[in-house]
Amino acid sequence: MAKINRDYTKLRSSYLFSDIAKKVAAYQSSNPSADIIRLGIGDVTRPLTPSVIEAMHKAVDEMADEKTFRGYAPDLGYDFLRSAIASHDYRKRGCDIADDEIFVSDGAKSDSGNIQEIFGKDNVVAVCDPVYPVYVDTNVMAGRAGEFAEDAGRWSDVVYMPCLEENGFAPMIPSGDRVPDIIYLCFPNNPTGATIVKSELQKWVDYANEHGSVIIYDAAYEAYISEDDVPHSIYECDGARTCAIELRSFSKNAGFTGVRLGFTVIPKDLKVEGVRLYDLWARRHGTKYNGAPYIIQRAGEAVYSDKGQEEIKGLVKYYMDNAAYILNGLKKAGLCVSGGVNAPYIWVKTPEGLSSWEYFDRLLTVANVVGTPGSGFGPSGEGYLRLTAFGNSERTKEAVDRIAGIVI
Ligand SMILES: *Cc1c(COP(=O)(O)O)cnc(C)c1O
Repeated sequence: MAKINRDYTKLRSSYLFSDIAKKVAAYQSSNPSADIIRLGIGDVTRPLTPSVIEAMHKAVDEMADEKTFRGYAPDLGYDFLRSAIASHDYRKRGCDIADDEIFVSDGAKSDSGNIQEIFGKDNVVAVCDPVYPVYVDTNVMAGRAGEFAEDAGRWSDVVYMPCLEENGFAPMIPSGDRVPDIIYLCFPNNPTGATIVKSELQKWVDYANEHGSVIIYDAAYEAYISEDDVPHSIYECDGARTCAIELRSFSKNAGFTGVRLGFTVIPKDLKVEGVRLYDLWARRHGTKYNGAPYIIQRAGEAVYSDKGQEEIKGLVKYYMDNAAYILNGLKKAGLCVSGGVNAPYIWVKTPEGLSSWEYFDRLLTVANVVGTPGSGFGPSGEGYLRLTAFGNSERTKEAVDRIAGIVI
């Protein structure tokens, strides 16, 4: 008789974004004329840029000709893309990363969920709280999270590192005897938009090297960094080659959420119990291929051309102009807001001590604006709401003016 994976049944049946969708649909059906503006979902809205589209058209034509047709892509990615990534994103920034330490994939969501497979089940996992839910969910499915305590909103075996107002929404280095084996860090952070400076990140790298921990560093929002002392990569820190894996994506900078492209960096110096994680991840890619098609890898290569880079700057500027409008508009209205400087996310403290969901309901029903309740990203997100800068700029301005109009 077949058996199921019991750990999958532990995942909670309600999923943040489906709960939101249900509430919005219910409100819209009882208020058909309401003009709802969505500042909730972390998806981009600007189209792919001309360089990317041109590269895709060209690659499609190559597929139509026997002489240039391509079948299965190489497991770890095409050399043209791995080399563009390594030289542009790393060596140009002074990071010592070789072309073949880049593993091309179909996006950072898959990689951030799958990477835990190369670690044993008995590792202690630490996460920023609040954070992108994929890290915890996939460790639940792998049997590393323990049991969920409904009242506390947390898993018994996960180490939560609170990111609170008093620390500028940065986690504290774990103290005490519960040393995490795998530490997920996400900077710039989704959902708070917070970052840490290089000297602070260096402390995490030192901690990991000292304790034999591995840092999984999610830099999906690297392109949004505007401040000089904020690192773009963990490999800007000394010693990161022996303790850190980095995840990147083409989704949030170049708008690839629908075409899918990302990559993971694993330096060959990173060993656990004497085994190179590089070899384990390469084996995984070879057997459970989650690579990207040739056409999409050519599209990714085009992002690194001079013209491609200019276009990407334009996309990021579009969203960051929205972020600035949200940040300034809500500040002026007397709300307590953060983020929005190195990330397309604005983290709003709920007024009058409302809970995340109460404030969500108020914005939906009074302003007809949809945000994302902070409590959906972890227990320390309670009392906050996330707004994203990924919308159309006219609609974003209108949403901000409406929210500002109802403050207290
Ligand atoms: C959006 C997002 C990703 C996923 O990126 P894809 O490449 O589209 O899968 C990964 N990490 C964080 C923190 C994100 O917000």
